[in-house]
Amino acid sequence: MNIRKNIAILGSTGSIGTQALEVIGANPGLFRAFMLTAQSSADLLISQALQFDPAYVVICDHTKYHYVKEALAHTNVKVLAGIEAITETVTHTDIHTVLTAMVGFAGLEPTIAAVEAGKDIALANKETLVVAGELVTGLAKKHGVKILPVDSEHSAIFQCLAGEENNVVEKIILTASGGPFRGKDLDFLSRVVREDALKHPNWVMGAKITIDSATLMNKGLEVIEAKWLFGLTAEQIEVIVHPQSIIHSMVQFEDGSIKAQMGLPDMKLPIQYAFTYPHRLKNDFKRFDFTNYPNLTFEKPDTKTFRNLAIAFEALNRGGNMPCIVNAANEVAVKGFLNNNISFLAMSDIVETCMQKITYKAQPLLDDYLNTDKETRIFAQNLIEQMPLKAVQI
Ligand code: MG
Repeated sequence: MNIRKNIAILGSTGSIGTQALEVIGANPGLFRAFMLTAQSSADLLISQALQFDPAYVVICDHTKYHYVKEALAHTNVKVLAGIEAITETVTHTDIHTVLTAMVGFAGLEPTIAAVEAGKDIALANKETLVVAGELVTGLAKKHGVKILPVDSEHSAIFQCLAGEENNVVEKIILTASGGPFRGKDLDFLSRVVREDALKHPNWVMGAKITIDSATLMNKGLEVIEAKWLFGLTAEQIEVIVHPQSIIHSMVQFEDGSIKAQMGLPDMKLPIQYAFTYPHRLKNDFKRFDFTNYPNLTFEKPDTKTFRNLAIAFEALNRGGNMPCIVNAANEVAVKGFLNNNISFLAMSDIVETCMQKITYKAQPLLDDYLNTDKETRIFAQNLIEQMPLKAVQI
């Protein structure tokens, strides 16, 4: 590579965003952080802008616009506010790759705008494909843009598939750490609180994805994401629990051969691969040593206790706007749990009730997704407010 790539990071103050800036900072000759955006973390956004000198920063929260603008007044950085500013600026001619690392449904519209403007997408916002996979992958094909997965499992599969373009995939095997409650029963889960669920054994991540990992909804969303990224049927996607998180996922080809991508858990690698694909780039990330891990273990996921994985497969099979319903209900439920308003197990109840009650659409268009998302959020929020059961306080 000899052209310096301009990268837009949507969600630069989150876990993926900050690690992406580490990758950029380590390779200033290869990458430039051209645009940075944050939901509301104004101070971190300001310090990132001072360090990386992007052309644009966007703060979603309008109330913080003047604060950010003031702090960067002596620089050349253009400061904008609001989600509309992100959707507009992401189409800038000088941008090569857009890293979508914001949380949840909010990633959809900016991602669509970037795809339509012909930008390659380094996809960390899995909700985009969960909600509107058919629409987004169709647009990517139409505009000839690459969707480069940043999710560690999907990056693993993507890496296993390199050079295998003409070979038939029998199935993929997505690995799951099992989260902090692996092996626990429903009685145990009925008593867990926010702080327990926020302790992930292997990965340090944002609050939403950490809770999703504890409920296995993260794996469920990844199953749907994999379907769209790799053009698979539900039967071709298997989930296996691998608590050490060393094998990041596998592909089994039609001759029975399995390829795995492995390494220490470090999101900087999939981020870097998405930036440099199809090339690899030397780095000094910590190397894996097999002798430190004499026992790599595997077990079947417990979908009776962790219903969310079964829920996601059902949504995948029903298609249409069902994954959008599941995603919106889950976002609201996770927020309710993080606010100590509902119990851990109530999160799955809310998602299941929304699946039954929200209007199903077999062939949704973009407006249908937006309406479904809105309708589901209101309905799920009402469910939370009617729930007599609060999280157990200790
Ligand atoms: Mg993942």
